[in-house]
Amino acid sequence: MPELPEIEATCQGLVPYVMGQQISDVIIRCWQLRWTISVNLVKLLRGQNIQGVNRRAKYILISCSNGTLIIHLGMTGRLNVVPNNTLSAKHDHVDIILSNGKTIRYTDSRRFGSIHWTAADPYKHRLLLNLGIEPLTKEFTGNYLFNKAIKKNIPIKSFLMDATIVVGIGNIYANEALFASKIKPHRLVNTIKLEKYNNLAKNIQIILKKSIHKGGTTVRDFLNVGGEPGYFVQELKVYGRQGKPCFKCNTLLKGMRLNQRLTVYCPKCQH
Ligand SMILES: [Zn+2]
Repeated sequence: MPELPEIEATCQGLVPYVMGQQISDVIIRCWQLRWTISVNLVKLLRGQNIQGVNRRAKYILISCSNGTLIIHLGMTGRLNVVPNNTLSAKHDHVDIILSNGKTIRYTDSRRFGSIHWTAADPYKHRLLLNLGIEPLTKEFTGNYLFNKAIKKNIPIKSFLMDATIVVGIGNIYANEALFASKIKPHRLVNTIKLEKYNNLAKNIQIILKKSIHKGGTTVRDFLNVGGEPGYFVQELKVYGRQGKPCFKCNTLLKGMRLNQRLTVYCPKCQH
């Protein structure tokens, strides 16, 4: 599933191809994504100029002259940039054709993604309205987490993955940040000290930034050649390593299910 770093890298990767370009046409081969694409989308997009590409949580916001395209990649979605008239494959559902000879191509085998258009403030769109703060902003601090946690009695990993608290921390990054911060995933949030939260907030930012940097590199390649993105795999310390020795202390890492999500931690390093 594309996580915040991959979405951010996709946005950054799109910018040089799409900024200032006019949308000359739109081809929709499949209308039924997570929600049905509006019948008016083609008409609305034709002739629009693209003025910016931004991210809010895991939504990609493509700002145009008269509104904003809001794209979510769901579980398996991808945006590629291909030359106009490139033959489409089975799961290439939407093409946004640009005046510079490039096409933004939306591909999604499981079709859990979505495409919406709004002429109003995109941040007030129903999909974006109730989202928590962004982890890569100044507002995201140990203090913020500590204050949100005081009245809660849930495992720290579930808390970090709650999009009304903070957006974009998926399963992989929650596991990695908790290992880096020496906090066990099932520790209850109201038992963690402010000092630990300060450290955790810092580690989340370091890990996300590092991954954006890696994702940026692979996504740029993938925009050109259409290969699979390579994410952050080489950097993972615990995710996907259950039963293998901890890089710090050699103890075997434990795997468990927490809210149905695979959770991996070191029983010695994390408390
Ligand atoms: Zn360890």
